[in-house]
Amino acid sequence: MTITPAQATYFGFSGTLLFALLLLGALTLFTYTASRRIQLLTLGGPPEDRLDHPLARLWHMAEYGLLQRKMFRDPYAGLYHALIFSGFLVLLLRTLMLVFEGLFPGAGLPFLPTGFWQGYLLVKDLVLVTTFAGVVLALARRHVAKKERLDPSFDADLILLLIGFLMVTDLGAGAAKMALDAAKSAALGATPSTALAQNALWEPLTYSLSKQFSFLSSSSLQAIYFGAWWAHLVAIFVFGNYLPFAKHFHVITALPNLFFAKLEPAGKMATFDIERAAEAEKFGVSKIEDFTWKQKLDMFTCTECGRCREVCPTHLTGKPLTPKGFMVDLRNALYADADALIDADAGRGDGSAEVALAARRPLIGGWIDEETIWACTTCRYCEHACPVGITFVDKITDLRRHLVLEKSSFPKEAQTAFNGMERQGNPWNLAASDRAAWTVDLPFPVLTMAEAADAKLAGGVEVLFWVGCAGSYEERGKRVSRSLARLLHEAGVTFAILGTEETCTGDAARRLGNEYLFQTLARQNVETMKGYGVTRIVTNCPHCFNTLANEYPDFGGTFEVMHGTELVSRLVREGRIRLVNGEARSLSFHDPCYLGRHNGVYDAPRELLNAIPGIVLKELPLSRGNGMCCGAGGGRMWLDETIGARVNQARFAEIEANGTDAVGVSCPFCMVMLGNAKTELAGRTEAYDVLELAAQALPAHPG
Ligand code: SF4
Ligand code: SF4
Repeated sequence: MTITPAQATYFGFSGTLLFALLLLGALTLFTYTASRRIQLLTLGGPPEDRLDHPLARLWHMAEYGLLQRKMFRDPYAGLYHALIFSGFLVLLLRTLMLVFEGLFPGAGLPFLPTGFWQGYLLVKDLVLVTTFAGVVLALARRHVAKKERLDPSFDADLILLLIGFLMVTDLGAGAAKMALDAAKSAALGATPSTALAQNALWEPLTYSLSKQFSFLSSSSLQAIYFGAWWAHLVAIFVFGNYLPFAKHFHVITALPNLFFAKLEPAGKMATFDIERAAEAEKFGVSKIEDFTWKQKLDMFTCTECGRCREVCPTHLTGKPLTPKGFMVDLRNALYADADALIDADAGRGDGSAEVALAARRPLIGGWIDEETIWACTTCRYCEHACPVGITFVDKITDLRRHLVLEKSSFPKEAQTAFNGMERQGNPWNLAASDRAAWTVDLPFPVLTMAEAADAKLAGGVEVLFWVGCAGSYEERGKRVSRSLARLLHEAGVTFAILGTEETCTGDAARRLGNEYLFQTLARQNVETMKGYGVTRIVTNCPHCFNTLANEYPDFGGTFEVMHGTELVSRLVREGRIRLVNGEARSLSFHDPCYLGRHNGVYDAPRELLNAIPGIVLKELPLSRGNGMCCGAGGGRMWLDETIGARVNQARFAEIEANGTDAVGVSCPFCMVMLGNAKTELAGRTEAYDVLELAAQALPAHPG
């Protein structure tokens, strides 16, 4: 019987003892490093509960982690990642087998029947080769194809080579042992044993390689077997201990990060207690430790794959923000001060940790420039692209909250919008008393909730039409408001507006960091609507839609909120609206970020467009979840765009290239941005709101 490496003695030391010491050292080092990382996660930052809905969390982890749903959006990367990832899963058990063999040499494998282990050996044998193939494909992508989103990385190359080395040593050790067993049997004059015949069946690749070793002497085979076995295990220990220091920490943290992912609507921002924050004189995030544990787990988990960067509109138009760079900078900031943060948090030491922290590179202005923080349009394309569930908008807006509420440091144009929202209830700073002026041209009266209540109609109002600031003041937005009113009227839906009692939802204020203003507006609006017993709302503004549906519940306002296209497409389906007029035109549809990616409403506007006679929809190359931002979100509508190309022009150029007669939108801000781009670029493609087109198709359209 061939002795195993752990059964041998080395310079008088038992192989088992050496192995046990190596294992103990590796585990001790890993435990120490992991415990430091966990301490980093938990220090500072507000508490965050991510243990609700465990089954939904498990499914989310399985869908995106185990089934790798996002990885195959890039089929080549999906393939090599799946090969390597499946190798990890399968070889985890193999590693446990080797550890058992090292600690208990000569003992049979425990717990499970022989048939299981034989089946496992077959899978393992194949996976050694497929994993190696995955490594070769990954290296080819980095060094031959030189994919733009993958930056040169010594760390990535090292890890890939280490994985390849693990496959080679595992196969080499197994094949040498098999050849050794066969040589010993032959030396004893035995015919090939049943065990050797089974090798060909259960470990065919190892067996084939062992045949290639048949010319080697027993001592050479033993040297290969022992050398490869020890090298393999030492490489595993090195690999495991290297992971927490590098981007491959995601091997450990990706599944937990997906399990603890945000399950609330994507567009909902976290609400914090503004009174308590004011007492503590602390708003948002100014230091790296102020982020929550989940936000720090995101930093640990970034694989630096660059998928977020290649889709980010700010990066594509030459702004300083790249989501990948932002995440890596946050992680570097966290690691740079890790020891001092942990020591200071534990109250240990001689005060040097506090001194080091006081003198450290500041997060804002040091690691992250203010221009970077203000560049984001909060479009969430990066989050849609990220395969490991990392979020950006929460971190950007936490930094903005600090800048606005503690430092009063923000682009000066934002002040005009803040003043308008505060004084007149709209960011244009137009007279609050004119909020309902858009109704005057309509051929039927539009009641306010107050008028409906006076007329004892409040109970009979089916739905509140939330008009929004753009729908109330912006010229094109007012036309769309009239269109929606006409469509509702045509369907016989009884509706009312708040009129001058409506004020801005505060969406832009919140995303620009002015949480105080947002909460003031939110409370006021919720109180108004609850006062009228509102239960259902329709709005054409995706920003209002997102805020009313997802954020107002935190302030006691829980309503059924529909986007205009959702309600009108349903009314068409139910036969309450007939769309009979229309001119033949091809049309692209531009998905608004706050309707699509933030709230998953993709089909309703398309269903409505398809119901309008004459319209032929031609999808844009970047549509639905991949729709590119117009540049207005995150309060950017109110800020100057002075760096790089303009986002609206970049999107408009894509629309022009689609070659349609027109582009449909479902957001008043997209309408303004694309309309401006058409003028700026002297373009051809006219933008229409989907509801405008639907209203034009009504039988009694006045022309
Ligand atoms: S939210 Fe949009 S603009 Fe902001 S970092 Fe992500 S992709 Fe870029
Ligand atoms: S944040 Fe996500 S998409 Fe961006 S580089 Fe990191 S892992 Fe890749």
